Amino acid sequence: MISQLRPSRFMPPGHNRIDVSFEFFPPKDESMEKTLWESIERLAPLNPDFVSVTYGAGGSTRERTHATVKRIVQETSLTPAAHLTCVAATRDEIDDVVRQYHDAGVRHIVALRGDSLEGAGARYKSTPGGYDTSADLVAGIKKISSDFEVSVSAYPEKHPDSLNVDADIDMLKAKVDAGATRAITQFFFENDLYFRYLDRVRARGIDIPIVPGILPVQNFKAATNFAQRAGASVPSWLAERFAGLDGDPATRKLIAAAVAAEQAIDLLDRGVTNFHFYTMNRADLVYAICHLLGLRPQVEQAA
Ligand code: FAD
Repeated sequence: MISQLRPSRFMPPGHNRIDVSFEFFPPKDESMEKTLWESIERLAPLNPDFVSVTYGAGGSTRERTHATVKRIVQETSLTPAAHLTCVAATRDEIDDVVRQYHDAGVRHIVALRGDSLEGAGARYKSTPGGYDTSADLVAGIKKISSDFEVSVSAYPEKHPDSLNVDADIDMLKAKVDAGATRAITQFFFENDLYFRYLDRVRARGIDIPIVPGILPVQNFKAATNFAQRAGASVPSWLAERFAGLDGDPATRKLIAAAVAAEQAIDLLDRGVTNFHFYTMNRADLVYAICHLLGLRPQVEQAA
C-alpha cells in the first residue's frame, strides 16, 4: 500500500538522497514553449541533478536545442545537459557546437550516435568527415575540454542495430573508455530487464552509474509507437491496463500515474537511487512520482 511506503525504508545503506534528472525536448512553437517553461518551473524546485534537452533527428532542432539550453543557463539555477548526435555534421561542425556550449557555460553533454536521416530503423551511415561512433564523439568532446561531463545511452533490451546484448555492452564499454561517466537507459517497463542488464554490465567491468530512464505513459498509443522504434518491449499487462480508455483521459491519467509509481517504487525498493525521467515536456506525472519517491520542493532561503 502506497501510504505505507517511506523512502528511508528503501534507501540502500550509505545513501541519504535520491537524485533525479529530467529530459525535455525543444519546443516547436510558442504554445509548446509555454508548456515547456511551465513544466521546467514546476519541476525546478525538486532540485534535479540536471535537466537535459534533446537534439532532434539529424540535427533538425539544432538551433532550438541551443536556444533552450541557453535559456536554462541564463534564467534558471538548473544545471543543463545538452544532447548531441553525430548525424549529418562533420567533426569540425560538431566541435564548434561543443565549443559554443562550453563558452555558454554548459559542462554536461549527452553524447549519442543518433539515427539515420531516413528515421529510426533505416540503416545508419556515418557522415563523411564526421564522428563515426558515439564513442568517437565522447572522445572528441573530452578532447575539447576535459571538464565536460559526458553521459551516454544504454539499452537494457539492446539497441535494434546491435547483433546481440554483448555487442551492445561492448559499445557501452568503448564509450566509458572514451570518457563517459554516466549512462542513461532507454525506457523499459519491466524492471527485471534493467536488473538483468545491470548484472551483465557490471560483469563486463563497467562501473559507471547506469541510470534508469523512466517514461511515464502519458499516451499509450504514442508510447507503443515510440517503443517499437526504440526496440523496447511493451508487456501485455501494460496494454491491458490502458485497454478501453481511449475516450477516458481522466482515468487514463490515473492509470498512468499508478503504473509509473509502481515502477519507480519497485526500483527504489530494489536499491535504485538515481532516476532519469522522460518528461515529454509535461510536469504533472513526473512531479507526482518524485513526490512519491520522497522528493520535496526546496524553497530558497532568504539571505
Ligand atoms: P550507440 O550506443 O552508439 O549504439 C547503439 C548500439 O547500436 C551499439 O551498442 C552498437 O552495438 C550498435 N551499433 C551502432 N552503430 C552500429 C553500426 N554501424 N552497425 C552495427 N551496430 C551498430 N536521439 C536523437 O536523435 N536525439 C537525442 O537527443 C537523443 N537522446 C537520447 C537519449 C537517451 C538517454 C537514449 C537512450 C537515446 C537517445 N536518442 C536520441 C536515440 C539514439 O540516438 C538512437 O537510439 C540511436 O539509434 C543510437 O544512438 P546511441 O548513441 O544510443 O547509439
